[in-house]
Amino acid sequence: MHFFKYRGEELYAEDVPLSKIAKRFGTPVYVYSRKTIERHYKTYRDSFKYIDHLLCFAVKANSNPVILKLLARLGAGADIVSGGELYLALKIGMDPQKIVYTGVGKTEEEIAFALNSDILMFNIESEEELRQIDIIAKKLKKKARIGLRVNPEVDAKTHPYISTGLKKYKFGIPIEEALELYLFAKRLKNVEIIGVHSHIGSQITVTEPFIQSLSNILRLTENLKRVGIDIKYLDIGGGLGIRYKDEEPPLPSQLSMELKKLLLGRNVKIILEPGRSIIGNAGILIGKVLYIKKAHKNFIITDTGMNDLVRPTLYQAYHQILPVVKSRLTRTVFGDLVGPICESGDYIAKDRSLPALKRGDYFAVMSAGAYGFSMSSNYNARPRAAEVLVDGKKATLIRKRESYDDLIRNCIL
Ligand SMILES: *Cc1c(COP(=O)(O)O)cnc(C)c1O
Repeated sequence: MHFFKYRGEELYAEDVPLSKIAKRFGTPVYVYSRKTIERHYKTYRDSFKYIDHLLCFAVKANSNPVILKLLARLGAGADIVSGGELYLALKIGMDPQKIVYTGVGKTEEEIAFALNSDILMFNIESEEELRQIDIIAKKLKKKARIGLRVNPEVDAKTHPYISTGLKKYKFGIPIEEALELYLFAKRLKNVEIIGVHSHIGSQITVTEPFIQSLSNILRLTENLKRVGIDIKYLDIGGGLGIRYKDEEPPLPSQLSMELKKLLLGRNVKIILEPGRSIIGNAGILIGKVLYIKKAHKNFIITDTGMNDLVRPTLYQAYHQILPVVKSRLTRTVFGDLVGPICESGDYIAKDRSLPALKRGDYFAVMSAGAYGFSMSSNYNARPRAAEVLVDGKKATLIRKRESYDDLIRNCIL
């Protein structure tokens, strides 16, 4: 559910016509709907209200500080994967006791930063990382609260680049080795074991992998209990999919219902780390058509490319393309909608039926709120897009478009 809808001919974000935003702030521009973000957050909260839980928004999906602050005010914590994300979360006033830190390559500086910030938990991805955290905690006279990121050997049945729950990927500790590493962790003086973490992938559209994963993890916690290790937090990661085209991912309520059965009578707090399912459909990207080129194929050439939204070319992802103003003629053409970047892989839509846009028309790339701006780059020396948050009738610039000066800000000339 989201609040990007046509009213007559015009596509709106809540109560604001997108054409107005495009004219006022220029293109490419990311537009988010506050009402949609709040709705998604509350859907999770209500769906999981019968399970003791903490929702930690996956900052990597969208790290705009205004959006993080909005979520923090609603009660969310943060799932971070870098020192930079920790910085952002703290900057907007996030409670460190609601921050969990995952990632295979935490540096010494990042670990020290997180320890000094007193975050809730490190999700540890290797034995060497565990040893390192113990050493740094000792130096800082802190105790590191930890969980192991366990690889439950579950196939998330999603794109291989966003699948993480199998041995062949770099993430986590194989579940059959977890008990031994927990026993090792128990002997370390500067760590306190509080959790188990697993995250099996992203854009998952069925409940079965989640159930499978949790069952495997619960079996592990029972074995841990037998050796005197009590787990307080079960972090089940993120990964719930959204509808880009015709997917029918489970609702948070369906997921919670199935998980609840497994959790009955257990005294643990669940940590959820949704990213995409909170912010994906709450944001769109608006671009403008520069030229129409009819070669052996139709190309709609636009000012919006892979540096703004890399998902189509990186994951072969589908994003719906809608005209910002529907003409009375609902004609379509078959072809590619491409950007200005000098790469053949620079496309937003490929070999598809597309609205028959003309030079100067604005279009909306739907479902671009997650892994959109956060994965954007300056490739081809293109300044990064602006971001706008809509709340009812109000559209607010929450990140200025980068300028040419920004492109050389850190250069030593
Ligand atoms: C990416 C990631 C998430 C968020 O995944 P979504 O599919 O966006 O919900 C959560 N936890 C971890 C550890 C991640 O790496």
